[in-house]
This record gives sequence, C-alpha cells and structure tokens, in this order.
Amino acid sequence: MDRIAKYSGLKKRSLEMRDFLTDLSNEIPSLLDDGKRNISTEMDEAKRVSSEISGCANFLVFHNYYTIEEIRLSKVITCKKHLLCPFCAARRASKQVEKNGDRIKKVLEENKNLIPVMITLTVKNGDDLTERFEHIKKSFQKLQQKRKDAIRGKTETEFTKVKGSMFSYELTNKGNGWHPHIHMIALLDDYIDQSKLSKEWEAITKDSKIIDIRKVTSKSGKTLDISDALLEVFKYALKFSDLDLDLTWEAYRTLKGKRLLGAFGNLWGSTLEPESLLDDLLDDLPYLEMFYTYSKHLGAYELKTSIKKEATQKVEDEKKVNQKNKIVIVRPENPLPKDVLIPKPQIRGIKPKLSRLDQYLHDNPLPE
Ligand SMILES: [Zn+2]
Repeated sequence: MDRIAKYSGLKKRSLEMRDFLTDLSNEIPSLLDDGKRNISTEMDEAKRVSSEISGCANFLVFHNYYTIEEIRLSKVITCKKHLLCPFCAARRASKQVEKNGDRIKKVLEENKNLIPVMITLTVKNGDDLTERFEHIKKSFQKLQQKRKDAIRGKTETEFTKVKGSMFSYELTNKGNGWHPHIHMIALLDDYIDQSKLSKEWEAITKDSKIIDIRKVTSKSGKTLDISDALLEVFKYALKFSDLDLDLTWEAYRTLKGKRLLGAFGNLWGSTLEPESLLDDLLDDLPYLEMFYTYSKHLGAYELKTSIKKEATQKVEDEKKVNQKNKIVIVRPENPLPKDVLIPKPQIRGIKPKLSRLDQYLHDNPLPE
C-alpha cells in the first residue's frame, strides 16, 4: 500500500479521536456522571489530549532518495499517544520491528540451536479492563517467576525451554468484553510440550488454558522471517479497527503509563521503545525533499513542494548545503515560488499532486 495513502488513513482516524475528545470535553458534566467517573478530571484530560492529537502529523517531510528509489520520513511533529493515535502507533510499531529484529537475528546467528516460535497466552474475557489487565499481567509474572525458580532447580516448567523472549500485551474488545492476551517471540532450546504448558497456565490463571505455539518460518518456507513474527508482537496494543472511540478512550485512560512490552532471558535489555519515530536518513545520497501537508477537506496528505538537494554527508555541512540550495522555510501559508519546484517527479509509490499547488498558489497569491 502506498505510504502516503496509508498515513492519510491513519491521520483521518486520529482526527476522529480528536473530535470525539473535543466533544467529550464540551459535554455537560451531569450528562456523563454515572457515579463512577471523576468527570471534571476526565474532561480536562480530554481537552488537553485532544489538542495534542490535533497537532500530530499535520505535515510530513520525506527524503526521496531517487537514485535508489527509497523514501524515508525525515521530519514530523507527533503526539506520541500511541494508545490513541493510529499514526503514532503505526510509526512506533514499524520502528520497533526494525530495531528489535536486528537484535533477534544477531542472537539467532550466535546460537544456531535456538528455535524461534510465537507464543500467545490468553485469559478469559471480562468487562473490567483494569481487573483483566492486572490478572493477565500477574499470571504472566508468575509464569516467569516459575521459570526462574526452575532454572535454580526449585521446580519444573516447560517454560525453561524459553531462552529469551520479547513480548507485548494486547487488548481487544469485539463486543464480548475485554480480551487480554500476550504475544511473545520466544527462542527455544527444545520444543515445548504444548499440553503441559497449557496445564501450567491454567493452574496459574484459574480461568484459561489457551496457549498457542507456532514455529516462525517464512511464507516461502525457505528462510526464517522474524520480521513477520515481530510485527505480531509489536503491532498495536489496541486494535483501532476493532475498537470504537469510546472504548479506545477507556483503554487509554486505563493503560497509559503502564508497561505493555517486555523482554527476558537472552533478549533481556532489548531497546523496546524507539527513540524517534523518524526513519534513519542516508546522508551520502542526493534526494528530493518532499513536503506534504494534511488537508482535512480532502482527508489526505497533499504534496506541497519538492526540492532537489545534494547529499549532506555531514551535519556540519548542512548550512553550506542549505545556502547552495537556496532553502526557504516552507510553510503552507508561505509557499515557495514555482521556480524552485521540480515539476512532476516520477517517483514510484508517491503520486505527485503538483497541480494542486498551482491551485493553492492561485487561491493564496504570494505577497508582492
Ligand atoms: Zn500522534
């Protein structure tokens, strides 16, 4: 799927969330009061968060490395509310897959005996999200403690076969109550007896013996594809497509600030949280700097400017390069003169919309 189209869809849903929160913060408190919520705090929070989401990803700047046909995100201002904002959730997930995938591949290269598998652990559905989340979290902590005790010879568990793991909590709600589960990538030194582990899990949770274990293989069956498995682990903690805005808000308020990711064993210490939501840039290649803004009217990102730039090489050289390229700070209300634009860049995956710029310049003439 085209990246701009994908981001347009994410931003659209992000604005739906923003509108929902704006409405919520304007409600009359007595209408919301069901005796259980602290309404004024919730309304204040809705107001604050809605303005943060409002400012998220209103513009995107890509470096289009046309010599290798690669496009990378170089600038964006984000809200970082990944439990509410699909744009931030998607960027975070893809950065996590990228960074943690390298770590797992390295560990597998150094330990050829290890078998990568995906394990899913589930507890029973329920209406109280806080209670259900604490239940699965405590159950999983017990299983991890059992593994530690077994390593010291104090007990036995199938879970000692897990030499390392990265895991995440996911919470869905398809109208049947909250359904918490854990996705984990596990590196095993021997195959787990699924029915035994299932019994152990039931003894801990008292309400679920559901465990799924799948070997990680590529679709072609030839080479190992850890990235697909990682996508499963690092996809969103909340599936926005399955949750209405009200439930998303409830989940955010319950889960914000909680650790929803973890790692142990020989994958312990993995950098699970990305430092930045931007792509790594390739300083030694020339590129087109493509500036997009989100148009609420169109419900999509529009290409505003595209400027050819030389390879920057070093950050210290940036000023010189900027001068050489006669860079003007680009703002939607201050569009560049037409002569710095490169007409109709033929780039795969991005549909140029320069004709819209002509329209824009017509509607917003440059000051004399
Ligand atoms: Zn965001």
